Amino acid sequence: MNNKLYGNLIFELSQPGRKGYSLPKNRFGSYEIPAEMRREHEAELPECDEMTVVRHYTNLSANNFGVDNGFYPLGSCTMKYNPKINEEVAALPQFAGLHPLQPKETVQGAEAVCTLLCRSLCELTGLHAFTLKPFAGAHGELTGLMVIKKYHESRGDEARRLVIVPDSAHGTNPASAAVCGLDIIEVKSLSDGTVDVDALRELLTQHGSEVAAMMMTNPNTLGLFERQIPAIEQMVHEAGGLMYYDGANLNPMLGVCRPGDMGFDVMHINLHKTFSTPHGGGGPGAGPVGVRKGLEEFFPTVSPYHGNFAVVMRAYAYILSLGREHIKEVGPLATLNANYIKESLKDVYELPIEGLCKHEFVFDGLKDKSTGVTTMDVAKRLLDYGYHAPTIYFPLLFHESLMIEPTENESKETIDGFIQVMRQIAEEAKANPDEVKSAPHNTPIGRVDDVLAAKHPIVTFRQMKDER
Ligand SMILES: *Cc1c(COP(=O)(O)O)cnc(C)c1O
Repeated sequence: MNNKLYGNLIFELSQPGRKGYSLPKNRFGSYEIPAEMRREHEAELPECDEMTVVRHYTNLSANNFGVDNGFYPLGSCTMKYNPKINEEVAALPQFAGLHPLQPKETVQGAEAVCTLLCRSLCELTGLHAFTLKPFAGAHGELTGLMVIKKYHESRGDEARRLVIVPDSAHGTNPASAAVCGLDIIEVKSLSDGTVDVDALRELLTQHGSEVAAMMMTNPNTLGLFERQIPAIEQMVHEAGGLMYYDGANLNPMLGVCRPGDMGFDVMHINLHKTFSTPHGGGGPGAGPVGVRKGLEEFFPTVSPYHGNFAVVMRAYAYILSLGREHIKEVGPLATLNANYIKESLKDVYELPIEGLCKHEFVFDGLKDKSTGVTTMDVAKRLLDYGYHAPTIYFPLLFHESLMIEPTENESKETIDGFIQVMRQIAEEAKANPDEVKSAPHNTPIGRVDDVLAAKHPIVTFRQMKDER
């Protein structure tokens, strides 16, 4: 696309007096808007003809990269598989047109979907009851921790104000605990990336009677299954704390194993990750919370109405379209894809933790550090080849983290194409490092100054005009 021809901003294409519409002559006489309700200055709107507007926005939309453009191996907060049929189901006017204040007897279908989804989630997780109200994973964490806090308070055990969080946890875990008014203690990971059980025992010996809960992510943020859960669960419960499961990315576990069976008391699931809602740019989401029997009476009211219903619809459509038999294939296929990429690239990218991973894994940058090519450079170069970058510089356990998650629906050809490009970039890093360090070369904008963008963001047209 030619940016000069179509302009960067619609305002820059504006010509005084130009219009993209023509209205019939007013046949109804005039109506005076009271003076105090009128604006003092004309609205500053761009004035453009129809084709300019259409081309401008069509070209802008083509600059977006999404799962529908190409492979998108982003780990953790990822865009997983979003089947198109779910969009059709969520958009059915019989559901999409409902109003949350409609009389109950007119929304029985929607109520049934909510109830049936909760029942499916109970079956998939081994927990007793779910609430669909939370609007995101972090909101679910807060809701779950509120349940745990109320549970301890109901027993007159107000001293329990500590939440144990592994150092590999997603940043929302400690943040949610803090928002809930609880204090956080971190437990270290072993060099194999899993929770250090001895360090945890030590913590519990010192603080056991103050522990409200331990939060765990499984598979953890490094994509590893936490094998010590039985021992951990026993120690925390003996100390009187509850076990919280961060199930944001539950896809590798579906139909394979269940948090409830592992001894967890409370969990959240990100429907927008595990159960297929496209959620770019921060929404929409839903973070249902599930609890063990006896804790459902502590569900707080955290949102008006019934949560994010269109996300609920997609999740239920996804579960039904896979069914009991095929939902079991999601985890093994995603795990196979991740391990295939890991093993195919570990001779050129640094693999800090050997062994089987689940649905995702982390490289610590290129193996050959002498080229000066960083994880950022690799990520930018991938854009030139038509691939979305993996998650970079997260988790914080390594300096050059490159976190890769291929979902279960990607074909072997797609994955082989990605492996080939990753190997090619490793070769370029040796032969021609400047080519990689100055990437991307084929995108409308090259490298932005991240620091300047964060410290001095220009977010309005007026600011941009003033800057020039
Ligand atoms: C994405 C994610 C969260 C937070 O979910 P949001 O919907 O972004 O609030 C929490 N934990 C883990 C492990 C995640 O991947």
